[in-house]
Amino acid sequence: MPLEAGLLEILACPACHAPLREEADELHCTGGACGLVYPIRDGIPVLLVDEARRSD
Ligand SMILES: [Zn+2]
Repeated sequence: MPLEAGLLEILACPACHAPLREEADELHCTGGACGLVYPIRDGIPVLLVDEARRSD
């Protein structure tokens, strides 16, 4: 389920403040040095560094 239109534009990575990109029900940080991936649970982005994983 896609996020609400416009929501991505106001969200930012809590670790580095880079924009996020939605992909496969996750939010990928676009900051090159950061690379964290945040889960989306029940349509709600979980923007917590503790909940994020490192992208491959
Ligand atoms: Zn980041």
